[in-house]
Amino acid sequence: MRRIGLTGGIGSGKSTVASLLQERGAIVIDADSIARELVEPGEPALEALVTEFGPRILTDSGTLSRGELAKLAFSDPEATKRLNAIMHPLIRAESARRLEVAAAAVVVYDMPLLVETKQQDLVDTVVVVDIPESLQVERSVTMRGLDREDVERRMQMQASREERLALADYVIDNSGSLGELKAAVDGLWSDLHAR
Ligand code: ATP
Repeated sequence: MRRIGLTGGIGSGKSTVASLLQERGAIVIDADSIARELVEPGEPALEALVTEFGPRILTDSGTLSRGELAKLAFSDPEATKRLNAIMHPLIRAESARRLEVAAAAVVVYDMPLLVETKQQDLVDTVVVVDIPESLQVERSVTMRGLDREDVERRMQMQASREERLALADYVIDNSGSLGELKAAVDGLWSDLHAR
């Protein structure tokens, strides 16, 4: 994971650049939107702000009046400091939490022909779902309704079981029941997070 800090002056285009990066696949953690979420009714940050600046900063419906808070908090540097002392640690903690979630993201690229097209270097971990060839035919015919000869012909064109296993970092044996498969996937999932 590469962490990018995006900054710029007011109105410079940070949000625009962030959303362009998001469109291209980046995960964006936005301090402004975190700050807005932290002061929703019922959030501890809102209570702390009311304790500090008084109930005047609330609207009649109990939400934060940003205008009122800005008037009080930006009227003198000391008040701004008190606002920042409440908000900044909470924003930092929430940003760190989201960064952790993003860093732990597991992207699964479902590539039937990974071995045949030699794309193993595109990924960190090759997981091979393995069953005996006879079971491949059996399940394709009975579960998927495919033609037996057609399945066998396609298997001839694909990499062999051994060729796949040779490239595997992790093998999921799927010759058993769906329940056993789920247990195997749980095992994979915890191993991936232990690395
Ligand atoms: P703020 O600090 O106020 O949150 P920001 O740095 O996030 O601002 P943006 O909201 O991305 O800035 O951009 C400010 C305004 O300028 C927006 O209305 C945006 O649509 C517009 N804008 C951004 N880049 C361009 C551009 N290249 N041409 C025209 N308008 C632009």
